[in-house]
Order: sequence, then C-alpha cells, then structure tokens
Amino acid sequence: MKNLIKVSLRQSAIFIPAAACAQSVKEISETSTILLANARKLGFTFSEPLLHALNAAAPKLKHEILEALREVMGTNKNWTPLVKGWDIPTGESRSDHIIAFFANVLKLNWGSKLKCGHYIPKKTFPLERYNGCPFCGTPFQQEELKLNEQGSKLKVLDLWKEDDMTNYLNDLLKSKTALDATQVESLKTLILSFDIPNVAVAMKETLMLLIDTLVEKGDAEKAASYFSTPNDILRYLWYKKTGFLQIVEPKTIINKTKENNTHLFNFFSNCNTASLDKKKALKLKYSRKECKMVASWLNGLSMSPKKVCEIMHPKRNMWVRFIRALRLAEYSKKAGFEQLKTILDIFYNKKYKVWQGILNKNRQQFNAEKSLRILKEKPGVFARSLFSNMLWFGDDITINAFADVVDQVPARLVFSLNMYADNYFKPNGKRSVKTLGGIRKTIDTHPLLEMYDQKQLDGMKAKIEDLTLLAMKKRFAGVPNKSKTIYIDPALFNMPVSIGERSENVQDMPSALMGTRFPLEGNEVRLFMQWGEGMPAQHLDMDLSCYVAYEHKAQFCSYSSLTIPGCQHSGDIRSIPSKVGTAEYINIDVDKLETLGAKYVSFTCNAYSNGNLTANMVVGWMDSKHSMRISRKSGVAYDPSCVQHQVRITQPLAKGLVFGVLDVEAREVIWLEMPYYGQVVQGLNLNGVETLLNKLDSRLNIGTLLNIKAEAQGLKLTEDAEADEVYDIQWATNTAAVTQLLVD
Ligand SMILES: [Zn+2]
Repeated sequence: MKNLIKVSLRQSAIFIPAAACAQSVKEISETSTILLANARKLGFTFSEPLLHALNAAAPKLKHEILEALREVMGTNKNWTPLVKGWDIPTGESRSDHIIAFFANVLKLNWGSKLKCGHYIPKKTFPLERYNGCPFCGTPFQQEELKLNEQGSKLKVLDLWKEDDMTNYLNDLLKSKTALDATQVESLKTLILSFDIPNVAVAMKETLMLLIDTLVEKGDAEKAASYFSTPNDILRYLWYKKTGFLQIVEPKTIINKTKENNTHLFNFFSNCNTASLDKKKALKLKYSRKECKMVASWLNGLSMSPKKVCEIMHPKRNMWVRFIRALRLAEYSKKAGFEQLKTILDIFYNKKYKVWQGILNKNRQQFNAEKSLRILKEKPGVFARSLFSNMLWFGDDITINAFADVVDQVPARLVFSLNMYADNYFKPNGKRSVKTLGGIRKTIDTHPLLEMYDQKQLDGMKAKIEDLTLLAMKKRFAGVPNKSKTIYIDPALFNMPVSIGERSENVQDMPSALMGTRFPLEGNEVRLFMQWGEGMPAQHLDMDLSCYVAYEHKAQFCSYSSLTIPGCQHSGDIRSIPSKVGTAEYINIDVDKLETLGAKYVSFTCNAYSNGNLTANMVVGWMDSKHSMRISRKSGVAYDPSCVQHQVRITQPLAKGLVFGVLDVEAREVIWLEMPYYGQVVQGLNLNGVETLLNKLDSRLNIGTLLNIKAEAQGLKLTEDAEADEVYDIQWATNTAAVTQLLVD
C-alpha cells in the first residue's frame, strides 16, 4: 500500500482505495487534523476531496500515508553536516591540513586525538566548530532533525482512486516515448497490484518491463505473444543481464566502468580490476529452463527465417555469444524446433541479405537514386540518417524521397527531426548529444557542413520544418474531433516535449518535466545532498558543489574552496556513519550573486571515491520567502517544507551530475539532468550547460504542438479554462498522457 501511495504522490495525489472511504465525510476528524498538521510540516496540504475521503478512512491508512510522506522527504535520515553553524566560515586553511598531515604521519602528539585516531594540532582547525574530524572528514556527532515549517509554499495533494491508478497505468503502457526512471518505477509497482489492461504497448522499452513481469510470474508463454522480432528477444536478454532497456554494447559498458574507476591520482586507481570484474559480470550463463524458454520464443516468431536473420545481422557478434550460451544449436535438433533450426542454418551460413552493406556500397558510389530507394525500405533508418544524407546527396532530392515515406515514421521521430535540425545544421559548431550509456558528450559537427553557406543551411532547416509540420498537421487532421474550443496554458510554451531528454533519476516528490522552471520565493537557495542511508559505516566520499558562471570567468564552490563570493559550503564529509547517512549543503546568496554580475549557477554532485555515483543519494534544493535556519549547535539545515525539488540518484553509470541551473537574473531554477565525466566540478564545461539550456528552449514545445493540433482540427483558441479541451500544467505533469499528442 505504501508503494502505491508513493506512486500517486509523484502525480501530486494520494491514492485511497474506494473501499477505505466508502462515503465522503465533510466534518473533519481528529486523526485527519493530526495528519494534516504533520503533512504541513513536510510541505504538503490536501485538496478538499482528499480531506473528505481521509475523514472516512481508518487511522491505519492515515498512518501509512504519513509514513510514505516522511520516507519521501527523508525525515528519518541524518542531516548533520561536518560544521556547526556553517554559514559562518570556520577559517580553516590549506596550512591547517598540511600541519595536521605531518603531525599524523610523524605521530606527533601535538594536540587532541580524535575518535578516528587523528591528531589535530593546536592552533590549526577550530575543533569546537566541527561535528567530526576536520582532517579526514569523518562525522562523530548527529543531531535529530527538527521540523520548523519554514516553507512558504505548500504543495497541494489531490485524491486518487482505483480509476485514476489504472488510467495512469494505461497512460504509461501507451506512452509514445520511452519512460523516464520515475515512470519505470511507478509502472513496475502498478503492474504488481493491478490487472494488465489490454492495450497496445507503444514502446519497446515499456514492453520489456511488461514481459519481465510476466516471466517473473512464470508466464513465459504469454510473454511470447509480445515478441514480434528477434531484436525484442535480444533486448529482453540484455535487459536481464545489464539492466539497460536499450541494447548498449558490452564494450561501451566496460569502457565506462573503466573511466568511472579512474581516480584523480593514478596511485589509488583500480580501473583495471574494475573493468575485469565488469567483463566477468557480462559473461553469459543460463539455466536449462531459460535456454528452453528463449529457444521456444525464437522458434515461435511469426516472421520468415530469412527476415529474422536480416534483423539479427547488425548485432551479429552479440547473437553469436547468446546462441552459444543458450545452447540453441542443441535445442534446434529437437522435434518441434524446426523453425529454430532453419534460422540458425541461415544465420551461420550468412544466407541472407545485408541491407546496410548494400546501402553503404551504393552510398559510396554516390548512386543517389538507388541509395534513396534502399533507404525508403526502412523509413525509421531513413529518418535517423536524413540530415547526413541531405548533406551527402543534396537536400531537395533527399527530402522528396523521404516525403514519400514520412507517413510510416513514428510521430516521435518526425517530431524530433524538427527539434534537432537547429542543433545539427550549425557549422563550426559543437553538438551536445547523449550516448546510449547515458553520458552527454559535446561532439564536432558534420565536416560536410563546411561545404554549405549559412543561407543554404537555413534553407535545409526550413525544408525540414515544413515537412514535419505538414506531416504532423496531416496526422492531427486524420483524427476526428468533436470539440470546438481549446485552452492552452501559456506555460506549456516553455516545456519541451520529452523526446530526447529523459530524466534518469527518480523523482519521488511530485515530478516535473525537464525544463520546468521553478520561480524563487526568497533570496537564498540552499542545495542539499544526503547519502549513505542504510549502509554500514565506511569511507564514501560524495561531493556537493556548484559552478558560478560569469561572463568572463567562473568560480567553484566545492570541498576545495568552501567559501566563494555568494556561496558557502557546509564542509567536506568523506566517511559515512552507520545506517543513517550524512549530508552536505551549499547556501547560495542570490542577491549577492546578482550584484556581482553572475549569470548562472549549476548545481552539481559527484563521486570522489572510486566507483559509481549511487549510495542511496538524494539531491535537491530549498527555497522559502522566510529565512531558513541553520542550527548553531549542529549545523542541520534541512527543512522538508522548503524543498522545491529533489531527485533520488539511481543511474549507476553516471559519474557526476548537474541537477539544476539557477538563472540568477530571472530568479528561477531550471530543473534538468546532465551527467558528465570528471571527478571534480572543474570537469564541467559551461558550454555544455548553455548548449543544453538552448536545447530545452526548443521552439517545438508542448504549446506549439497543441497549436498545430488546433489548426489542423479547426479548434478555436480561448483564453478561459472552460474550453472543450483544456491543456494546463496539471495535465502536462502526466508526461505519458502528453505523449498521446504524437499521433501515429
Ligand atoms: Zn580523522
């Protein structure tokens, strides 16, 4: 039940089963009052329907709701930083560290000996200011969290019943873009509690999650009915092996593990053993039962064996390994597995056409007509290579050929063409792309761009825009609609359709789309990071930092410079205490930064120790009209009622992460997620952040898409929310439902 409550909370609601609140009671009960008061301390309040339903519900359910809210807001965790009253700098210096280093190496008993065994020489660190050892960053003391209710903006929660939950499940299954990490967690929870509705699953990634649930339930046969190509099977096997919903090749995973384990100082690096371990982990090993299951799946595919092999070809090396590990040759000799036998025979003897090979040959020979004809056989591939083919063969001939098949391309792809054209046709530029492994990279643009002048490139962009707009309009026009009027919330014109940028970490608080702008209420933003909850005491160095970008310079606030103009860090913790975790904070004085002329502040966190960034970490930021307290006694500075947004880090491959950008002048925090390499914040490149911000500002946003719909379906735009069709912010928070605008 608690998990279901958490799913609804992500959608700004609380799920109460109909049976638990048979009647709606207006008179507020005592237990409801208590729950409401406690929820306010955590930054939440209830809508009227929710309150009426709660009045009728049993105290046990109310208790579960409170528990869920407390877990999400982390009130049971330790929030004590290293320094007491850390808003006043301790004045610790480089030389303090150096003197302490010699005292400890030479075992000079020059001052106080701490629990961790370190000597802190007199006249170095002001020990009375620390909750732990300033030298090694191990905390000793903790203070319990007090809830001060300093927040100035409560988040209103609504009532959800069974219908809302199943509708949401439906939306997730039908989502026309791959689900983000929050949606994946919600989907997994919902499938376990509700019947799987009979809907067409729109995305392969979603399908894998569904199949996985069926297989876990022991219903491999039903799962078989969902496989349509051998790639689906490969994708499922790879997902089970690596946890990736897309097929990320083994070498990519191994390289990435290696990079994540490269320590700043080579001396401490264990990258070679780490990649060896990963290699071992990627070795395939299957039980008899699993081998038979996959053999029957392949054997049962309805497409022709030749076609099966053609599709298997681009991942031939992976297939060879899987066929061996799954002992498929052995099964193909058994009665009833004749189809599998034919497939393996064709595959091993390469008695199939290699589509890509034929295409490449014609492309190299510059045979435009033939190449484009081959491309038309695979509209999806054509769409993905449209831009480079325009540069190679010329824009008109390529676009005309593509126009013939554009109707067969999923709307998601058509739409993204227009989104990416701007970014692509930029000469002398850098492009920001995201690799399958989830890392954002800045890459050089296509060399052929240099052959064209700006006017020609602008012409190419315009042609793509015309084509995609026409295609989208045609699709909307093809959907009958009885509505006459439409209301589009102006804020939707600032929200990109979530095609390329998916959040990879989980938002347990009411979730927001990447690109959402949070206006500030106060003059201070407080970043927080909590990690290590539930883990035994150990060395586990995670760093919270921020990057202040000025026009001509940049400054970092991090473990190595705790105090910079406008920012103050709470001290570098390098070891966690047992079970409760530990915290770091940064205070950002927005007024001061504005006076100093700062443009942006990027919020970042990364792992300083070897390994990946996980460790049950939560990062986020606080904001309030009222002043936010910092305990003199302990330095605790967390107040759940002030949290504007937070994310739980779940992506194991990312090394460092940008989790928000403060636009100083606009006084807004833009929520985004950008993983990056490099151990320290200096590894982050300002260009990268600006490129990403540009991308979020894409012209093709939800509002524009709705405008196209209105035009194509002859709907009249109105200013009031009483229209036949209403699209507001509330509607947009259900991203899966928003993707239904991508009509195929
Ligand atoms: Zn120490």
